[in-house]
Amino acid sequence: MNLSSMTSQLKEIYSRFETDAAAFTRDAVCTAGCAFCCTSVGSVDITTLEGWVIRSHLAGLPRKQRIGLEKALAVNRRKKERQALVPCPFLKADQTCAIYTVRPFSCRRLYSLKKCGKTGPTIHREAAALSDAGVTALQRLDHTGYSGHISYVLQLLDMPRFRKRYLSGGFEPAEIMAFGKSHGIVINRFMTARRPDDRRHPAIAALSESIPGGA
Ligand code: SF4
Ligand code: SF4
Repeated sequence: MNLSSMTSQLKEIYSRFETDAAAFTRDAVCTAGCAFCCTSVGSVDITTLEGWVIRSHLAGLPRKQRIGLEKALAVNRRKKERQALVPCPFLKADQTCAIYTVRPFSCRRLYSLKKCGKTGPTIHREAAALSDAGVTALQRLDHTGYSGHISYVLQLLDMPRFRKRYLSGGFEPAEIMAFGKSHGIVINRFMTARRPDDRRHPAIAALSESIPGGA
């Protein structure tokens, strides 16, 4: 597994999505400090590769900050096992993101044309299709990885046995699903059930096919 190359490709997917979706997201009402999407979505899902990038970022933080975030992750996991809706562990007291530069695709794809409320974000159909295409590209890139809640994917990567296997290209979905089940969460599932089905926008097909091979 060439993590350096995979990380570069991951950043390329983020960048392409941002560029391709700009025609839609320019009308967003999102502002810093507006955090309904960080508190009320219930599950911020990431891929294992995204988890690796976040983990590497955490490792480079000052000790006090890193330990604070590790504690927040542990608290988040405990709460998550008791209730469905738990704010993201990386949401700071001022309602901004502690890992903004390495936030996962599930956050990058969110925007809304109206302030979110009980109904969640209002987005363009084409942007939703682009978002699905981005998820497909992420899954093709990380085809021996998993998708799941951010706190648990990071926990998996902290486990030496899992980390060694993932980094060597091993794939044990049954074991990982059992891990998720033991914590009352779903892991090893796609971040979206839909396949990108709107090919009218050329960028959608290009983004979806941007990573060769994979599952
Ligand atoms: S998606 Fe909704 S909650 Fe999130 S920043 Fe935009 S308007 Fe605010
Ligand atoms: S990672 Fe950051 S942007 Fe994403 S849900 Fe958590 S606090 Fe919000």
